[in-house]
Amino acid sequence: MGPDAGFARQSEISRYPVNNGAVAAMATETLPGPMNVANLRDFVESAAVAMHSVAADGTILWANQAELDLVGYSRDEYVGCNISRFHADATVIADIMRRLTSGETLRSYPARLRSKDGSLRSVLIDSSALFEGGKFVRTRCITRDVTRETIVEQKLRETEKWQRELIDALPVAVYTTDANGVVTHYNRAAADFAGRSPQVGIDRWCVTHRLYRVDGTYLPHDECPMAIALRTGEPVRGVEAVAERPDGSRVSFIPYPTPLRNSDGEVSGAVNVLVDITERKRAEEARARLAAIVETSDDAIISKNLNGIIQTWNAGAERIFGYTAEEAIGRSVTMLIPESQSDEEPRILEKLKRGERIDHYETVRRRKDGSLLDISLTISPMLNERGVIIGASKIARDITARKRAEAELKRANSDLEQFAYSASHDLQEPIRNIVVYSEILSRQCTDLREEKARECVSFIKQSGLRMDALVKGLMDYIQSDDSSAAVEEVDSNEALGQALLNLTTTIQETQAQITHDPLPRVRMRPGQMEHLFQNLVGNAVKYRRDDEAPRIHISVSRERTGWQFAVKDNGIGIAPEYQDRIFGIFKRLHTGGKYSGAGIGLAICQRIVERHGGRLWVESEGNEKGSTFFFTAPVAGSREQACGTLTTWPVS
Ligand code: ADP
Repeated sequence: MGPDAGFARQSEISRYPVNNGAVAAMATETLPGPMNVANLRDFVESAAVAMHSVAADGTILWANQAELDLVGYSRDEYVGCNISRFHADATVIADIMRRLTSGETLRSYPARLRSKDGSLRSVLIDSSALFEGGKFVRTRCITRDVTRETIVEQKLRETEKWQRELIDALPVAVYTTDANGVVTHYNRAAADFAGRSPQVGIDRWCVTHRLYRVDGTYLPHDECPMAIALRTGEPVRGVEAVAERPDGSRVSFIPYPTPLRNSDGEVSGAVNVLVDITERKRAEEARARLAAIVETSDDAIISKNLNGIIQTWNAGAERIFGYTAEEAIGRSVTMLIPESQSDEEPRILEKLKRGERIDHYETVRRRKDGSLLDISLTISPMLNERGVIIGASKIARDITARKRAEAELKRANSDLEQFAYSASHDLQEPIRNIVVYSEILSRQCTDLREEKARECVSFIKQSGLRMDALVKGLMDYIQSDDSSAAVEEVDSNEALGQALLNLTTTIQETQAQITHDPLPRVRMRPGQMEHLFQNLVGNAVKYRRDDEAPRIHISVSRERTGWQFAVKDNGIGIAPEYQDRIFGIFKRLHTGGKYSGAGIGLAICQRIVERHGGRLWVESEGNEKGSTFFFTAPVAGSREQACGTLTTWPVS
């Protein structure tokens, strides 16, 4: 069959279904002149739409000029070849042929043709086969070139994909809706934000479960900023809201809904960005709380830069120093420093620049009215977010009243001590007289036969002696507060050695065994460490058990607050209910003849320890169980190591 054979007869053409039917109709109704083959051939040959016809085996029987233009081949190069040669996808042409052979009519079947210059043309094929006597004769194919549309579509698809990927990659919650507010896309951050997986195509306006206004009232979804943006066609900004997740947790946020418009300027959808401001709100609240604390503080809280220029000034500062914030901010802190302390500020600034802090530094400052006040200063360096020192915060506490009270207390104490001292001193004289005269009486008046009278004189003497001991103890107690003396470094080993020397006779008589750890150096007033050891070891020996020689061990441990000494004995012990009482003046658990003493030793020890900032206490499991007296003492400088070699006493 020749290439033109398909168009030889009019009857054939009129049988063409659909497209070719249209051509036939046009040929008979609109073409001028008779409906002859020549006219039809010219019409089809010069039609702008590409047409061709293939045989059952795929051989191209005929193609019009538009088809040849589409593929770029000449008629000779094209007609007579197998159609599959010009298809880019072998499976596609095979499928087309299979469908046509089975009598199917193809409508807009997409395919790709390879043109002579190698470029691919996207086409849509309309085709059907002509059968005669049930036999496949040829196809009638119309090929529409949709390359440009395909490229545009593909670009559009790529752009959409790119936009989605961009949204997905954003760390902030983003979602889009169509013009009706129906959610079309959301990213992971949006799902995390909402605490749920939004339902694309169903959820409207929002991806969140429930919304509230900042005042806590319920905010319906169709009144949310996104709904408003879509309704008005304008972006909504600056509206804060609270989202509630399905698990009940809430998150404060600011939405940024923006309507999107198509090329005709109509709203085609919207994009919303949800910015979580929970942390910011929390920080703001914390800042506000801190500011309120600073503002209501009784203390002056001031910040200054590294040049000493005041940056902030609270109400406490105004109250204490008399300057308002307006008067103080921007001025140098030196306005508060009296001339007598003028060297302080440079020293303080130097310390701050080194990053050091100043704690409870007691000094004097000047008020606006020129009067001076005692203050306790705590100054800390302030760092910026990179850790660089940019200034200092300063807390100044007015301690004028405390200082006055302390001075008054000191004066009162000293008056009291003075009084107690002279009273004890004055008392000693009559007491001694009572003792002496009762002795004379009992010695000289031998005729004092009456038993009762002798007993009375003896009582008078005993009472006198006792009173003498008490008064002496009282004087010791008063004198033990040698707070005028300076503290110094003391070797505890030496202090213990001296105390044991003083106790030599007692130790030997009782065959006491005394051992100790190497002891450290401490900071104490002269003689007071020795006094402590002498009292505590003396008691440990004195309050021994009848059935056992005293064994005493002195140990030490380093605690956070200083050195902690322990004097442990195997003596009579102290019942728990008395363990606090024994530190009071004249408080004794054992009166009478067995244990001598005035009940003042532990009171003196406690006074010494407390005057050095320490603590004295006892632990004992009770009667006959021994006791351990603990006391703490300040560490001496950097030489903290325990030292010394003396380990037992007496030395053999
Ligand atoms: P004094 O020894 O002169 O009575 P202290 O003030 O030294 O006075 O002691 C008060 C009381 O504490 C003592 O009377 C005694 O009852 C009790 N005490 C002190 N040290 C010990 C000890 N190591 N073992 C048992 N009891 C003690």
